[in-house]
Amino acid sequence: MKIQIITLFPEMFPGVFNASMLWKAQDKGIAEISYINLRSFGIGPRKQVDDTPYGGGDGMLLKPEPLVAAIEAAQQRTAYSVQRTGDKTNPKAARSTLNAQRSKVILLTPRGERYTQAKARELTQYDDLILVCARYEGYDERVTEYVDEQISIGDYVLTGGEIPAMVVVDSVVRLLPGVLGGETSALIESFSDGQNLEYPQYTRPENFRGLKVPNVLLSGNHAEIDKWRKNKSE
Ligand code: SAM
Repeated sequence: MKIQIITLFPEMFPGVFNASMLWKAQDKGIAEISYINLRSFGIGPRKQVDDTPYGGGDGMLLKPEPLVAAIEAAQQRTAYSVQRTGDKTNPKAARSTLNAQRSKVILLTPRGERYTQAKARELTQYDDLILVCARYEGYDERVTEYVDEQISIGDYVLTGGEIPAMVVVDSVVRLLPGVLGGETSALIESFSDGQNLEYPQYTRPENFRGLKVPNVLLSGNHAEIDKWRKNKSE
């Protein structure tokens, strides 16, 4: 999977993505993560990317021209970009069918659809993900015509889309085949069936400061263990 992240702050990502499973996924060539610095699509000598909102109000909005230029540059780099048509008046139709099937442009926004494990699993089906991180008071609404989905990671407001993008990338990449150690580990964890949480788990020692591992887990009776786990999970 090829993941491109459009951001004003690419320096925020390596600490998170160059460790543990995310690093392993890139090292094995399962995921390729790259960054497009929105500033390089800024306008004029000062590379302006933001402006004041029409109608008044606090703060600055990301302008549409740099954001859309960055999205189009990212789309050019996807595996199926050759198939694009040239209809600029209809941005969604201008993308080839194949491109639309295999790649997704996602805008991170608190106004988007609430992110879930089911959505993470769905996103593993794509070859190319382009994640757009906004900043300041947000973005010019016309940008939404150029994205396929809008995702919110929860009902709270962060300063930018970078942490939400990290959340999406981490949750998707760990589900790609070959990333997690045990191939079944992603199938039996919290939310994997859409609702239930994982059962409580214990490791050695059996007795930690008087807190004991439940007897059933030491019993060797697998039917009873399964029953206990199912019960706890529900
Ligand atoms: N004024 C906007 C509003 O009230 O909806 C909030 C803008 S926020 C300070 C700046 C950017 O951070 C957003 O445009 C979005 O890209 C990102 N962001 C903040 N919270 C987010 C969330 N919960 N989920 C996804 N993206 C978020």
